[in-house]
Amino acid sequence: MAKIELLEKYAKLVVEVGVNVQKDQLVVVNASTETREFVRLIVKAAYNAGAKRVTVQWSDAYVSRYGYDGMSIETLEEIPEYTIQKSQYFIDQGGCVISIASPITGVNEGVDSLKMQKAGIAHMKAFKFVSDYVMGNGTQWSVIAAPNKVWAKKVFPDLEENDAYEALWDAILKASRVTETNDPIKEWANHNERLLSHNAILNGYQFESLHFTNDLGTDLIVELVNNHVWAGGGEHSEKGTYFNPNIPTEENFTMPYKLGVNGKVVATKPLDYQGNLIEDFWFEFKDGKVVNYGAKKNKETLKRLLEFDEGSTYLGEVALLSHDSPISNSGILFLNTLFDENASCHLALGRAYPMNLKGGTKMTEKELADAGSNQSMVHSDFMFGSADMQIEGTQKDGTKVRIFKDGDFVI
Ligand code: ZN
Ligand code: ZN
Repeated sequence: MAKIELLEKYAKLVVEVGVNVQKDQLVVVNASTETREFVRLIVKAAYNAGAKRVTVQWSDAYVSRYGYDGMSIETLEEIPEYTIQKSQYFIDQGGCVISIASPITGVNEGVDSLKMQKAGIAHMKAFKFVSDYVMGNGTQWSVIAAPNKVWAKKVFPDLEENDAYEALWDAILKASRVTETNDPIKEWANHNERLLSHNAILNGYQFESLHFTNDLGTDLIVELVNNHVWAGGGEHSEKGTYFNPNIPTEENFTMPYKLGVNGKVVATKPLDYQGNLIEDFWFEFKDGKVVNYGAKKNKETLKRLLEFDEGSTYLGEVALLSHDSPISNSGILFLNTLFDENASCHLALGRAYPMNLKGGTKMTEKELADAGSNQSMVHSDFMFGSADMQIEGTQKDGTKVRIFKDGDFVI
């Protein structure tokens, strides 16, 4: 099969399984100029699926960088009204959103961090109505990825640029369950069924706590909030359209009780934080808070993350992933959360997702906090899963249930 046919398969998957474009629906594609050839395939596939109009919102990491350098803080904080109106138009029209991740690693190195922060906050505030709408599943949305040469060289530093680029394409396709011989749409139906059945089983148990152990030294008890909800896999939009927020996705995740984490956890993969790789690190928790930690490399960076705010020393997410998955089996560190957090059981320091609590998306911040949900400006996932991970759940009546044996679900 020629490469182009494989990419067409991927584009069709994104359009039909990712956002599940409906007949006569508007489609918005957020993409960087690095991915223009693939974007053309997405646009074609969207029209084939019945889209009424497809609008690509181009961005360019270098243009943005020059903007940071060349504009004053005041200008960066000024959000042109027409950009807000444009987003409002897409919402009013019920458009669905495809976002293609293709990071240019390190492009903003050396930019005045105050400028970036102020611009970021202004942007976040002005477009909060969009993120609330999208994150609240007001419409179908999907985050997917396509490579660029800069990113590829970071992932495969030993390969020549073009080879690295091809290798990253192959890795992304494999991770997204697109192969020469399969029907990825069928494959995803089965995959989703598996994820949803694990959600249903785990939700049924309503475990009070999870106990993680492995030979590396992880021995951690994570209590879960009352009325927690296990999520992962496909979701329904407000109108009832089934879609997949992330391609790939492998996780079943829920909300830890902020003050109920105790023991030690040893990370099994490096963590990229603000462009620095933290390696061979561990945390000790007491009553939810990190009370001790270490790292063989970039401990200072880890300290910065932990000291970001009060919530960054507490957990906001616990996710279970089978050790046997395409991403995990590849052994590749993608340096991008969409992939790396889907390689292994993970925890996140920082903000919890309101959707992981029954009725949580309708709660105020105070109500969420009272329920034991962690709040923070950061949400940083780190991996601690392993082939010998054992997980035992404890139910409210004290009954213990084996959830993972040797890195994989047994329920
Ligand atoms: Zn996660
Ligand atoms: Zn996360």
